[in-house]
Amino acid sequence: MSFSWHHYHQMIYLTADLLTAAGVVKHAFSTRHGQRKGKVTTNFDLGLKNADPVSASEMRQQFLAAVGIDLVNLVAGQQSHGTRVQVVTTAPRGAYSWENGFPATDALITAQPNIALSVYTADCVPLLFLDPVRKCIGAAHAGWRGSIEGIAVATLAALRKNFGSRPEHILVAIGPAIGPCCYEVDQRVLLPLSEHIPFWRELIYPSRPGHYRLDLWTLNQRLLTSAGVKKDHIAIAKLCTFHRNQDFFSYRAEHSRAGSLMAVISL
Ligand SMILES: [Zn+2]
Repeated sequence: MSFSWHHYHQMIYLTADLLTAAGVVKHAFSTRHGQRKGKVTTNFDLGLKNADPVSASEMRQQFLAAVGIDLVNLVAGQQSHGTRVQVVTTAPRGAYSWENGFPATDALITAQPNIALSVYTADCVPLLFLDPVRKCIGAAHAGWRGSIEGIAVATLAALRKNFGSRPEHILVAIGPAIGPCCYEVDQRVLLPLSEHIPFWRELIYPSRPGHYRLDLWTLNQRLLTSAGVKKDHIAIAKLCTFHRNQDFFSYRAEHSRAGSLMAVISL
């Protein structure tokens, strides 16, 4: 299954057909295209860290409205490249200010309707989870460190522990993120990769001396299938944020100027 592009007024976003077909969630992945203060922008930054909060709230509202979600139902964590999973029971949280988000939290889960879980990326991997049987959802932010340390599996485990989810029922959408075409890493990443991931050699491609390109998409996919998720229950956007910097924010391409893409899901 693949992903679909949507145009709503001047905004462009993506959905995963796999999640749409389940018929029980609202979800979307933003791009850098939207409107800012009534004008078309390619800086549709849905993060709160760098932005002025008023225009960020306005853009968040605009993005969520397209999906049928209210900003007052939005929940976010203060992402820290860790593997902590937060069970969410009330909203909003981190919807209007970064400081109000769950501290040191890179994954969120809930079984409650009308709580919109969100994660923010610019090259890192956004993962959205749905168990259509137990009716529960998750969202995770996986950079290289979170991917290697297994945030995808930690989210699965939390869904199982809190809501009785079975991995074979769970659907996962892996959104736009830097791809194996562009994500060059060195010893700093390879060392922990080789320590944590038994199949690490299958994820790297030599680029120049001392450097390799790493496939974070497949790393997360393989971790999920190893934990019991069916391969055909995982949809990968295969859209490289660096390559397609005209459509997505990329930290590697833009450094600190990069805005944040939002991935959101709500029952
Ligand atoms: Zn690329």
